[in-house]
Amino acid sequence: MASVRSRITVAYSVATIISLSVLAVLFGVERYVGVEQDLAERTTRTAALAARVIERQGVQGVTLDTAYAAGNMFNLGVTRVLDELNGYYIVVADSTGRILYWSEPVRRIYYRGYDETLPPAQRALYRIEFDSIRNAALGIVNAATPRRVQLSTEQVLMTAHLPGQPLPGGVRRIVVGISTQRLRDVVSESISLAVLASPVLLGLSIGVAWMLSGRVLEPIDRMVDDVAAITDGRSLHRRVVLESETTDELGRLGQTVNDMIARLETSFSSLRRFTADASHELRTPLTVIRADVERAMSVEDQYEKAVALEEALQQVSRMTGLVESLLTLARSDEGRFDIIREPVPLEPLFREVVETATILGEDAGITVTLPVIQPVTVSADAERLRQLFLNLATNAIKYTPRGGMIELSLETRHDEAIVTVRDNGIGIAAADLPFIFDRFWRVDTVRSRSEGSGVGLGLAICQWIAQAHNGRIDVTSRLGRGSTFTVVLPAHRSKGENS
Ligand code: ADP
Repeated sequence: MASVRSRITVAYSVATIISLSVLAVLFGVERYVGVEQDLAERTTRTAALAARVIERQGVQGVTLDTAYAAGNMFNLGVTRVLDELNGYYIVVADSTGRILYWSEPVRRIYYRGYDETLPPAQRALYRIEFDSIRNAALGIVNAATPRRVQLSTEQVLMTAHLPGQPLPGGVRRIVVGISTQRLRDVVSESISLAVLASPVLLGLSIGVAWMLSGRVLEPIDRMVDDVAAITDGRSLHRRVVLESETTDELGRLGQTVNDMIARLETSFSSLRRFTADASHELRTPLTVIRADVERAMSVEDQYEKAVALEEALQQVSRMTGLVESLLTLARSDEGRFDIIREPVPLEPLFREVVETATILGEDAGITVTLPVIQPVTVSADAERLRQLFLNLATNAIKYTPRGGMIELSLETRHDEAIVTVRDNGIGIAAADLPFIFDRFWRVDTVRSRSEGSGVGLGLAICQWIAQAHNGRIDVTSRLGRGSTFTVVLPAHRSKGENS
């Protein structure tokens, strides 16, 4: 349980962290690109501005050429205006690559390269840096592509303005550079934001995931407790408490578990009842046998001895029958009973059953008739079918009072063999009808047993035999008027069979 919860938590947190990281990286990259574009645009704009300043100053008649020739690197007015563009690395050059103007940052690097107060190594470094700036500035051939120059303290992004026609003073190249410090700031800001925010976000996602998974798993936890409380057959009446709608997964799980417990309850109780009934039914004849044997041992009279032993023998055969029935049902439950299926013509078999029933009926003062018999073949186990029909016939005789009538008939209809056993005996109450095929079930237990008749397994076996032959037994009955049992079996279909 806890492990599922922690696994969900870990999975959720990992997923959250991954998506947040991806989002942060995308956001950072987007900002970086934006700032880079902004820097490039600023240099382009500044270069264009410088070009306009140079153009205008030149038009105003102050010839830069003369100023240049006079040793003045650049027209003073232009210099002053360009110097206003603070912080930019500006290099203005003519077509031969001669530098006409440099802004303060470039100038500073150049002069430091010759500053005697600095250590020689430092000066050499400045000179290298100046060369890099100059080479980069003079090397740009495409105004649209900015170039980066790495200095010792910073990186400079440079864009060139390359006018088609020379500007006044022979200006052919205006290069403007800007420090990329802001880009580095963006990166370091993003990193520090991530470092600061990630523990908080991680904690938050773990908390949320832990809480959510707890809420999701809580009903399952309770369900496990409910099921665990069902420890034996006696607590099978309990059910899992359903909290949610039966349509959601947990509701369905609970419902399924409840259905399963209900099925278990039914089979447990029928098993318990079956065991209790079976032991009871076996105990009765055993008690009688014991009494009979004791009586046989104690009496002197040979005739009485024989009577006692005869009664014991009857009980033994009753017990044998019972045990055989139990065995039949137990095997059929396990599906271990091999039913031999072969084409059986029912007519002769049924006539034999009717004969036996007639003999039994004569003893009981009951008339047995055979109003209809039609030829039909079924695919069946002949012995089992005989057992089925005899069971129904003997039941009919057993539950019909003297002077009653029993009708046995065999018909064929729509590829089905239909055997009907109809009596005008005591009948079965409507309330009892649904149970008569249950094991050990009898309408009147005391009376049935006292008559020494069956134990309530006969119809259960009949039903099993019918079902094993893909058939069924139907029953209609009215109390005091009689019962009709109908066995329906699928007819065997083969060439030449006209039934
Ligand atoms: P039993 O061995 O007691 O006859 P069965 O399983 O054959 O057991 O029958 C179950 C119960 O159904 C019987 O106890 C009886 O009450 C009732 N029953 C069966 N057949 C008939 C019938 N033809 N007429 C009335 N009741 C019947």
